[in-house]
Amino acid sequence: MSQVILPGATIGILGSGQLGRMAASAARRLGYRVHTLSPDTDTPTGHLADREFTAAYEDLDAVTAFAQSVDVVTFEFENVPSATTECAERHAPVRPAGRVLHVCQHRLREKRFLRDNRFPVTPFREIPDRAALDGAIDELGLPAVLKTAGFGYDGKGQAVIRTEADIDAAWQSIGSGEAVLETLVDFDCEVSVIAARGLDGAFAHWGVVANDHSNHILDVSVPDAPVTQPVRERAVEVARGIMESLDVVGVLCVEFFLRADGELLVNELAPRPHNSGHFSFDASVTSQFEQQVRAACGLPLGSTELLRPAAMVNLLGDLWSAGEPDWARALRDPQVKLHLYGKREPKPGRKMGHMVAFGSDRDDARTRALAARAALTDTGI
Ligand code: AMP
Repeated sequence: MSQVILPGATIGILGSGQLGRMAASAARRLGYRVHTLSPDTDTPTGHLADREFTAAYEDLDAVTAFAQSVDVVTFEFENVPSATTECAERHAPVRPAGRVLHVCQHRLREKRFLRDNRFPVTPFREIPDRAALDGAIDELGLPAVLKTAGFGYDGKGQAVIRTEADIDAAWQSIGSGEAVLETLVDFDCEVSVIAARGLDGAFAHWGVVANDHSNHILDVSVPDAPVTQPVRERAVEVARGIMESLDVVGVLCVEFFLRADGELLVNELAPRPHNSGHFSFDASVTSQFEQQVRAACGLPLGSTELLRPAAMVNLLGDLWSAGEPDWARALRDPQVKLHLYGKREPKPGRKMGHMVAFGSDRDDARTRALAARAALTDTGI
């Protein structure tokens, strides 16, 4: 294993948010140094990094200096331009490779990849311009969702079209650019599989996670989702197939819609640790962040075994609307773990932190997590 990057070496993280912060924490525990690059200063990742480079991703001189200062590059932000990863690849291995980002950062490229490789994907049509939209609606039917092709997340750049009267407003609201039209899926629930693949092709996964969204943003995640064994096996098989087809070295999350008849449809891929895998930081033998570091460095993957039933709730900036949340009251339950990302400005919809609660079973864990969050505010948001 000549390609192993041993503890003591430096890991470079492109992006500087909470995903990088938790990866940096895992990397430091393993004895690595961490550098981060993003356009921002005083960042969640920068707080834990040895060195914070502040530069635009398009500033290739800065990207060169960053990549030359590290032994391997990974990322926590997937909308990094291809020119940036290509530049970094000239100086250090980039894991997962830039071409994985290239596919996953653009909804049309991602959906074409899934369709062409026969993975189950939400029915969609490509919308290069307004003229294409009417024909696509005739083919797919309504209701449907119109999404921008690039740079969308957490429901941003999306509009639901329920009747023909909604079409023009939807087109304008997403910015009138290249788009994708999808069937509005009538799903039973949303689930995800977070998985890791090592440099040697080893595969590990954290099972199926049940996810609830609120206003298109992840709200609650509970590992070991109560799905049937065939659904569990199928979801993991799809995740494994996707990672092998893309030759991913690192962590990848597959978000699915699960229909009442048991059919799974891939909604989105994220080639990095994912919000729905945050429970693993506290509740699994190896977290998704440690696994990202192990994979990037060519170390063996760790066990993904769930230690105890757990549930995660997100803490959005909305919780600060009536002042600082009451952290002490939420932590009165000793089974609750608090993670705050060190962001100074709480804004509505902004992910500020999360909590993980343990319980006797998944329902108990979920109830405790929700109760802890309710305890943060008088209103109990
Ligand atoms: P996305 O940013 O594409 O992951 O979408 C965010 C959330 O919007 C998803 O987790 C779903 O709750 C909802 N959503 C997105 N696309 C669809 C769809 N085609 N059908 C039903 N719900 C959707």
